[in-house]
Amino acid sequence: MRTQVAIIGSGPSGLLLGQLLSGAGIDSVILDRASQQHILDRVRAGVLETGTVGVINDAGAGRRLHAEALIHGGFSLAFDGRDHRIDLADLTGGKHVTVYGQTEVTHDLMDAREASGALSIYAADKVEPHDFDTSAPFVTFEKDGVTQRIDCDYIAGCDGFHGASRQAVPDEAIRTYEKIYPFGWLGLLAEVPPVHHELIYANHPRGFALCSMRSPTRSRYYIQVREGESVAAWNDARFWDELRRRLPAHHAEAVVTGPSFEKSIAPLRSFVAEPMRFGRLFLVGDAAHIVPPTGAKGLNLAASDVHYLFEGLRDHYRDRSDAGLDAYSERALARVWKAVRFSWWMTTMLHRFPQTSAFDQKVQEAELDYLTHSRAAATVLAENYVGLPY
Ligand SMILES: Cc1cc2nc3c(=O)[nH]c(=O)nc-3n(C[C@H](O)[C@H](O)[C@H](O)COP(=O)(O)OP(=O)(O)OC[C@H]3O[C@@H](n4cnc5c(N)ncnc54)[C@H](O)[C@@H]3O)c2cc1C
Repeated sequence: MRTQVAIIGSGPSGLLLGQLLSGAGIDSVILDRASQQHILDRVRAGVLETGTVGVINDAGAGRRLHAEALIHGGFSLAFDGRDHRIDLADLTGGKHVTVYGQTEVTHDLMDAREASGALSIYAADKVEPHDFDTSAPFVTFEKDGVTQRIDCDYIAGCDGFHGASRQAVPDEAIRTYEKIYPFGWLGLLAEVPPVHHELIYANHPRGFALCSMRSPTRSRYYIQVREGESVAAWNDARFWDELRRRLPAHHAEAVVTGPSFEKSIAPLRSFVAEPMRFGRLFLVGDAAHIVPPTGAKGLNLAASDVHYLFEGLRDHYRDRSDAGLDAYSERALARVWKAVRFSWWMTTMLHRFPQTSAFDQKVQEAELDYLTHSRAAATVLAENYVGLPY
């Protein structure tokens, strides 16, 4: 089999890239080790920057998003028993974020790919990139026990943090940076109306909490839990009780509870691999970097990486110019590090760390107070939250 771009991974990065390439008449094959249903069942991000919505539109998958998504012009910071609205629209000259689940984005992109007739191969075992330091790279994989090979011009490694692409790069060619946070997020999804029409980020002595949503009838809540905590230790009643304790009284009283249909714990980590290009192999999205979800940047960074890589590939095939491909790693990383900084800052400001000293605690309180009393400080938060320009 032969294609122009072999894409490893059918998450948002791989699907977005595949659709943009199809639109430009560039052939691609997507390979994923998981089944299509498994990917569709994953519950992950939900806050989209305007740039991400633009990439989804360009990929021809924005129709349902525009009909169903929620537009948020602000969010609440809750601490010390009260909450303070960060008015994104006012602070950024009318910008906003779009609330639409990653599950729905994935669904729409898979539908668009199917309609385009481009090939995706799911449940592919032992996917491996080869010879990407030559002009004739290829990918091998096993399907139904038979080893197959795809020859290509380029390989896009869109296979997430645990994927095969980054692992195929020799140690001496890559540098990684990592920070592990000493807690996780326990997330719950329930078919109940959200406690508030905008997101609430809560800093509380018992730990961080986030009130989010997927629609006017579906809520996504998170609470900070200790490292190594087990989901089994948290029945719904315990979760709802703990969530309420971490919210200001007027929100706690308004929480509508109901049975959860998804509950999971996500560890929190910052990770960056540099560079993001190795010959004809490009790392995209979570394959190259991970941020803690506090700033809602993971999916949004995947979209900006795809934007830069697509421009490079399009210019290569259309204009015979490799300037965009040569600049890919540098352009992507400049944006990645700013989002890594923002996500780390949000995480540090809003969580309770096990080793927090009385001094650290006072500094955290001063930071929140400053943010809610200084328009300049709130503008820095708002500008990063809605997303820095591409
Ligand atoms: C539990 C959880 C909650 C999250 N919450 C948020 C949030 O609230 N906000 C936010 O912005 N971000 C959040 N994120 C991050 C966000 O979901 C990711 O940044 C986003 O999914 C990145 O997309 P991706 O396509 O790069 O990687 P992925 O979505 O990880 O997709 C990678 C794909 O590659 C496939 N794959 C992996 N290994 C191989 C292999 N060896 N061979 C072939 N295929 C392979 C996988 O099956 C997968 O389909 C969350 C992530 C997790 C895990």
